[in-house]
Amino acid sequence: MANHQIRKQPRGAENKNAGQNRSAACGIPGECPREIPGWLVAVDNVPTLVLFVLGFLIMGRWSALLALAFLVYCSSAIVLFWALICTSCHHYDSGACPCGYGRMAPKLFKARRDADFRKVFKRNIAIMFPCWLAPTLVGIYLLRYHYTGALLALFLGFCLVGYILIPAIAKLVGCKGCAIKDRCPWMS
Ligand code: SF4
Repeated sequence: MANHQIRKQPRGAENKNAGQNRSAACGIPGECPREIPGWLVAVDNVPTLVLFVLGFLIMGRWSALLALAFLVYCSSAIVLFWALICTSCHHYDSGACPCGYGRMAPKLFKARRDADFRKVFKRNIAIMFPCWLAPTLVGIYLLRYHYTGALLALFLGFCLVGYILIPAIAKLVGCKGCAIKDRCPWMS
């Protein structure tokens, strides 16, 4: 879920030879036509999927309904992320997005090129927090009052994926080759 937008684009800059225009519009040579290979998109997405499954299993130890609600929330949060954040991102409608959302967002939502991406990102990134925090808090509660070795393994797996693997992949793989990561709200 890494990303970046540093400059407002002149009105009407879209839809004319997109790669060329975006590169011209954002002033970063060679950035826009960057195409992330499929394996890297998978590396970026599979841990998030694993996180949601582990979170579902942890929540399910308390209530099946809560676990289902968690999965519905996480799926909706991803779509909301496309709508609220990706639509303002420079990687919108391009193959340069490390997790492929830049290709998914245009299928459902129009671009918002006049928005300041840093502000948009900081204002909306909290929609993803419950996907991490809910299983963490429920997990801590269940470990305190209903401890089992299997629950501990689930909880440690969730924390490893959510708080170590996903940030590490974003920083060391997905965003590594990004030309303006030093100005990105996720990376800086
Ligand atoms: S398109 Fe979305 S997921 Fe991809 S870099 Fe931009 S904000 Fe991040």
